[in-house]
Formats: sequence, C-alpha cells, structure tokens
Amino acid sequence: MRVLAIGECMAELAPTDNAGDFRLGFAGDTFNTAWYLTRCAPNATVSYLTAVGTDALSQNLTAFMRSSGLDDSFVQTIPDKSVGLYLISLKQGERSFSYWRDQSAARSLADDPARLAKAMDSANLIYFSGITLGILAPKQRQFFISALKDARASGKIIAFDPNLRPMLWESADTMTNAIMQGAGVSDILLPSFEDESVWFDDATPRATAQRYIEAGATTIIVKNGSESVYFVEDGASGEVPVKPVSDVVDTTAAGDSFNAGFLAGRATGLGLRDSIAFACRLSRKVVQHRGALVPVEASTALDGDTGRLV
Ligand code: ADP
Repeated sequence: MRVLAIGECMAELAPTDNAGDFRLGFAGDTFNTAWYLTRCAPNATVSYLTAVGTDALSQNLTAFMRSSGLDDSFVQTIPDKSVGLYLISLKQGERSFSYWRDQSAARSLADDPARLAKAMDSANLIYFSGITLGILAPKQRQFFISALKDARASGKIIAFDPNLRPMLWESADTMTNAIMQGAGVSDILLPSFEDESVWFDDATPRATAQRYIEAGATTIIVKNGSESVYFVEDGASGEVPVKPVSDVVDTTAAGDSFNAGFLAGRATGLGLRDSIAFACRLSRKVVQHRGALVPVEASTALDGDTGRLV
C-alpha cells in the first residue's frame, strides 16, 4: 500500500513549563495523519506532498519528516518562501493560536498540475483535507480538484477530511462550496460533526453522511468527539461507541489520529467496524497527552500481513 498525504506542515512554537520559553516542533492536520499512519501501518509507504522553502527552518522540517519515517520525494523546495508558523499561547489552561502562514511555500503545492498527477499516480490511497484546499488560490484549487478527479477515475482511493477552518477562506460560502467539490471527487469522507453542524446546518450525523453520499462519496465516517461514530458504507449504516475519556488533556490531532487509525485499518484489511474501533482506540490515547504528535507504542500498530492488532 502506498499512501500520498497532501497539505501543509507548519513549524509549531509550544510553551514549555519554563514561563516565556517555547519549544520548536512541526505539525499540521494532514501531516499529523501521515505521521500516525507510518506508526500504525508499518507496511505502508507514506509520502507527504508539500512545498517548503530553502531556509534552515524548512530544512529542519524536511529532516523531521524523514526521521519520522515519511517519504519526502514529493516535497518541492521554493526559494524565497518558508514554512508556515504558529505559536500556542496558554492562559489558565486554555490554548489559543497565532498564525504566520502567508509566506508558506505550501500554498504553491498545486502550481504544477503535471507534478501533482505524477505524485498521485505513484499512490494507491490519496489523503487531503479542507485545509489543503483552503491554502490554495482558486486557480490552483481547481488544478488540485481536477487532478484528484483523474486519479479517482484511474482507480486510486481518495480520502478527505473537510476540516472546516473559516479563517483560511474569504467567505463561508467559498469554503462550503469548495468542500462539496472536494467531496465530489472523494471515496472516503471523514468529517467531524461539531464543525459540519455549524457550517452546513446538519441536524444530525446522519444528515452529514447523507449530504456527502449525495455528493458522490461511498464511505462516510462521522466523528463526534466523545459521542458514537456514525458510519455509512454502500447503503449500510450504524454506530460504533466511543469510550469517553474523563480527564482529557489536549484534543489537538484527535481527528487527525482517528483518520490515520481508520485508514491504517482499511489498508491492512480490517473491516469497517474494526477499523473505526481501532481509530477510536488511537485517538482516545492521543487526547490523553499534550501535543499533536503523541508517541504511540507498538501495541497500536497493525500487522500488515494479517490485519490483526499487534
Ligand atoms: P476533531 O478533532 O476533528 O474535531 P473529534 O473531536 O470529533 O474530532 O474527535 C475525533 C475522535 O477522537 C472521536 O471520534 C473519538 O474517537 C476521539 N475522541 C475525541 N474526544 C474524546 C473523548 N473525550 N474521549 C474519548 N475519545 C475522544
């Protein structure tokens, strides 16, 4: 199995216990999913497609990517650009974020349609998100959607997390229209009900799933925090219960790690319910630790040959 995840990885400055000190890390929604995928599905090759600059921070990011086990063959370098940066502020336990991402090279990741097509051709499974769409200019967004459409037509599986982030978009309408376009070229949808209910007025997770089925997707997995996960696939639907965590430490990357767990399950031959249950186990661990990238032990990896949890 060859997976291609596409999007933006940013530099992260997170406060340490030493007031005023920050620690440099790297994270980003699709990147987080790729990172967890390499851990959960050790037999899969996971490539990350993005663009970075040529400065030291960009080089650090690429080195981190490589040392995490991700293939960087599709990381393009663009002189005079850099990587996006965000800083986490903590006030009485509440996190808030400041972003600097206008100069991010990742905004150019879809500038070259031939390059995109070549990268997509190398994969069996292609993963992207609403943030991937949101950082692109309208013309490049259309290149990207059209490359996904061609890839799907040639038999690739396309997985999409709408990850609705209004801050990235010029208007809510532009965002919701682009998300539905993305859904129209995808097989697997991995939305979070909390966001979908706000921006699409969905009354229930079932309504979210129905809207994406009508857009043309075949498998819809609706995450809903500590509530059950609702799924629809090929006309069958149901719920998988979530065992709520009472002492949540940090929900960063809950959805990203869930997506990785689900895709790892499918990639290694688990059935739908078992893949969702595995995703729940993984994200349950992640919300009990600080930060986006939580080291997961071997017990969270799936055996690629048998699909069994090892
Ligand atoms: P997102 O991070 O995209 O908003 P959710 O908040 O819906 O996504 O969470 C994704 C998944 O993380 C859920 O489906 C669930 O499996 C797990 N999760 C989130 N919050 C909790 C919690 N309090 N207890 C247990 N699992 C949780």
